[in-house]
Amino acid sequence: MSIQSTQPNPAQTESSGSAFYAGRGVSKTPMINHAKGIFFWDTEGKRYLDGSSGAVAANIGHGNERVRDAMMEQASRFSYVVRTAFTSESTETLCKMVADLAGPGFDQTFLVSGGSEAIEATLKLARQYAVVSGQPKRSKILARMPGYHGSTMGAAAVTGDPDRDEMFGPMMRIMPKIPAPLSYRLPEGFDVNSYADYCANELERQILAEGEDTVLAFIMEPVGGVATGALVAPDHYYKTVREICDRYGVLLIFDEVMCGAGRTGTFLAAHHWPDALPDLVACAKGLSAGYTPLGAMIAPNRIVDKVVESGGFLHGHTYSGNPLSSAIGVAVLTELVNQDLMRNADRMGVLLRQRLTTLKERTSTIGDVRGMGLLNAVEIVRDKATKEIFPASSQASYRVSAIARDLGLHIYGRRAAGGSSVNGSWQLLRSSSPNKKLTS
Ligand code: PLP
Repeated sequence: MSIQSTQPNPAQTESSGSAFYAGRGVSKTPMINHAKGIFFWDTEGKRYLDGSSGAVAANIGHGNERVRDAMMEQASRFSYVVRTAFTSESTETLCKMVADLAGPGFDQTFLVSGGSEAIEATLKLARQYAVVSGQPKRSKILARMPGYHGSTMGAAAVTGDPDRDEMFGPMMRIMPKIPAPLSYRLPEGFDVNSYADYCANELERQILAEGEDTVLAFIMEPVGGVATGALVAPDHYYKTVREICDRYGVLLIFDEVMCGAGRTGTFLAAHHWPDALPDLVACAKGLSAGYTPLGAMIAPNRIVDKVVESGGFLHGHTYSGNPLSSAIGVAVLTELVNQDLMRNADRMGVLLRQRLTTLKERTSTIGDVRGMGLLNAVEIVRDKATKEIFPASSQASYRVSAIARDLGLHIYGRRAAGGSSVNGSWQLLRSSSPNKKLTS
């Protein structure tokens, strides 16, 4: 029996041994039989276009034979050794590839099993670095509302979602939030640029309010995922955020779990703003493109070396640096480079947004189209003029996803996290495999 995270579909929970359903009981969860390229097929032979690469992960498409061969080759030799005692060629190769693709200042890679684990690693490395640098009072991580950084407790503490805070807050130390620079539904009196300025300045205000010597880091998604719906801020926002962090000795962490690994047209989304590079990066999803659970923290020598010299990083998991996962990561990144998929994501993204914008002009319910590369969102509203949203009770996002799925299209429908700055709006995250060739 597999357990999934949202309400069960009554039709599927009549007997024990069945799976909980992930889509709030709207329709039956299809069972997938096989996949190839941008398509997968269920056990009844129905074909689906994987319009969102699963959870924005299957970046190189399904059923890649070179990835399969690399997986088999590594598995036929050995799959696992414990990283604290041994390393493997695949692990070393993957770390070298990640550092080369990430570029100067991103020297060392700590491999984990997914996005939340990668976030935990950044938070803990930042903390250890502050302590060994003689700044033990620094422990607060500022983050954005709305924002999403994962489901484990540390990642949840920096996630900007009032519903989760209410549920899990009593069990943890929720970190302070500043508003994300939303671009579609803006507070009165602001335009996109002035609101981005306001939000960046909120970072400085919050650092001072918390006590500048107590703030350890600021974490943000450079291109938003599910919480903000592929939010991209104006360029000056990133530069101002970097300057404020420098001014107060606060580390800047980019959560590139969704937007990294080529998804936005560059290996790191951070590469779009070279004068605002972060100190630490968390990456996952596209790193293994869905072929295995894999994530990474990418960090500079100056931070890692200091922590290692002080006695070592007090963090790790059984599967950190797993040789089999690493071999898959190497094969995936090789495909990303050899097939020029990052440039393809850039070119196809432009085309996709053009087509979606045409669609927006022709329909009464698409309020906004935004994104970067092949990480894009379509925001659906009840009324375009007022930007009114569908009521929560309508479960609109789930219904739209279910209708699309019935029609053979998988999309990532999400109601955005609540919070005053987003007014409970909901978005449809609509992104495609970078290898997808668009058709009309
Ligand atoms: N951060 C971002 C921006 C994400 O989109 C996600 C997952 O969707 C995570 C962190 C958590 O990653 P995982 O689900 O692999 O733990």
